[in-house]
Amino acid sequence: MSSYINREVAMSFESIVSKSTNIVIISHTNPDGDAVGSTTAMFNYLKNRGMNVKIMLPDKYPDYLSFLDKDGSVLFFSRDQGISLELIDKADLIIALDFNQLKRVSEMECYILDSSARKIMVDHHPLPDNDSFDLVISRTEVSSTCELLYWLFLGMSTEIPLDVAQSLYVGIMTDTNNFSNSVSWQTFHVASHLLKIGVDKEMLQHSVFGGFSEGRMRLMGHLLLNKMVVVEQYGAAYIALSREEQEMFDFSEGDSEGFVNLPLNIKGVFVSALFTQKKDGNIRVSLRSVNDFSVNKLSRLHFNGGGHERAAGGRLEIPFESVGSYFRQALEKSYDQCNGI
Ligand code: 5GP
Ligand code: MN
Repeated sequence: MSSYINREVAMSFESIVSKSTNIVIISHTNPDGDAVGSTTAMFNYLKNRGMNVKIMLPDKYPDYLSFLDKDGSVLFFSRDQGISLELIDKADLIIALDFNQLKRVSEMECYILDSSARKIMVDHHPLPDNDSFDLVISRTEVSSTCELLYWLFLGMSTEIPLDVAQSLYVGIMTDTNNFSNSVSWQTFHVASHLLKIGVDKEMLQHSVFGGFSEGRMRLMGHLLLNKMVVVEQYGAAYIALSREEQEMFDFSEGDSEGFVNLPLNIKGVFVSALFTQKKDGNIRVSLRSVNDFSVNKLSRLHFNGGGHERAAGGRLEIPFESVGSYFRQALEKSYDQCNGI
């Protein structure tokens, strides 16, 4: 067993699951590789045990993750509200993966709160909402929810089926930015076992990082050449991606995956931000750091969000043209407070 999950925790999970008949698995808005990896891993794990289970996400996952949803059975609350509400109503167990607070499921929040189903959270973000769940398995030191699920599954059975292993590998690979951030020796141990089970890492690597459109590559070039701004004083950089540019490069959901990491390749840049203008005029914020600067704190103070110490996100409702000066002011006001994890 791992230090992340002991037998007692695995047995508490097992005991709730084995008493349930209608299970709904949920994750956060803008689902990423760890959200889709962890939900499909849990889905396949329970399905293999003959259980009645469904995945419900607040909105659609990016196309490059669709291969994990083999039969296209994942429900998107924003699209499939009627059937989703029926399923929440019938559910006697809701398993929440890869998020810490119910507000991260946006419109689904009130229905999940109102549901009389038992609720379990498995996650790796700081500050879990312990009050809304019957069982919380939260380990902030682990790279991804998928790495944590690996130990949970092994705590309940000796074998991990190949389809489960594949989903777990994708979640670990994406949340660590291809095994470069937040990885420990245990992460490689888990990845190594998943490969031994038979995961095809070349295929997964190609599906996730090698399936982008030409427009996405050209947009990346445009942003690096014309849009990236380095704020030397704070060892920071930012990119603001407008609606107009998204249209120009035929942007689709998921195309900006990884953009926020690009400025961190510059010597002397330790903090990076990506601001994406959304259809509704709001701005989606992505923040990363590679030193002891807490972007989680910066996000909570200035960007209406949160996340991990070195990878966080949030949302702004300000004129898009002013994001650059807003970011500079946030650094000016709170750099010292956020420096030192
Ligand atoms: P990303 O930049 O990849 O969208 O998000 C980075 C990390 O921050 C993820 O772990 C994600 O769960 C978290 N995060 C993103 N947006 C928000 C938000 O609006 N609120 C909170 N609390 N966390 C967020
Ligand atoms: Mn995650």
